Amino acid sequence: MRILVTNDDGAGAEGILVLAHAASVLGEVKVAAPDRERSACGHAMTLRDPLRVDPYPLEGFECITVNGYPVDCINVGLALLWPDGCDLVLSGINPGPNMGFDATYSGTVAGAMEGAINGIRSVAISMCPFAIGAPFHFETGRKWLEANWNWLLSLPNGQRTFYNVNLPAIEFEEVEGSLLTEMGRRVYEERVERREDPWGRPYFWQGGTLVAYNDVEGTDIMAVKDKFASVTPMSLDWTDKSALARAREVSAPSL
Ligand code: MN
Repeated sequence: MRILVTNDDGAGAEGILVLAHAASVLGEVKVAAPDRERSACGHAMTLRDPLRVDPYPLEGFECITVNGYPVDCINVGLALLWPDGCDLVLSGINPGPNMGFDATYSGTVAGAMEGAINGIRSVAISMCPFAIGAPFHFETGRKWLEANWNWLLSLPNGQRTFYNVNLPAIEFEEVEGSLLTEMGRRVYEERVERREDPWGRPYFWQGGTLVAYNDVEGTDIMAVKDKFASVTPMSLDWTDKSALARAREVSAPSL
């Protein structure tokens, strides 16, 4: 199997090396990663600037860095590293959750999304600590992936599908199991925090305090909260099919 690995944390991040090792049991792994951290870049793409590529010494793997986003890494990586095709795109392992609406900001998820756009089976993987500063337990990520590759890669894959995996950042032995989930919601309060610089001028920090997980059964958030691995099939097709059906029943104004 031909595998392309990327992330949004840069080629030097711990999680990408763990992911490359975990994937090496499946076949030949090549890595194309950003040359710096690009977290929360979403599905951004570089259009107005040249993309520069450099070799990167990632132990045991052919690896390049790209001075762009995960999307750029996938497209440049496919062109340069796998010109004759690639069977699997993996993105991560991200040190932090990508659940609920947060997935839409995620560069990690965007890497998998770009793999799917290229018609390749794609998976994003993230570790979810339960407290700020708690360890990410990447070794749990590696063990979970190695134990679950066969299942994960046998899941149905439409032309617009990719998978978003979120793992509880705990000891592997403490993981309760794996659940197929849907995208939940996360609710933040004080999303924008106002501060003042030494001259009294205001500046703002965006981030916010996570105040509530919605306790809806079957969501990624609930699964991880209950110490299960969460596996969410995602779709490139953003159409709200139910709204579309109902919208078509509303008669349009006659011109
Ligand atoms: Mn990241």
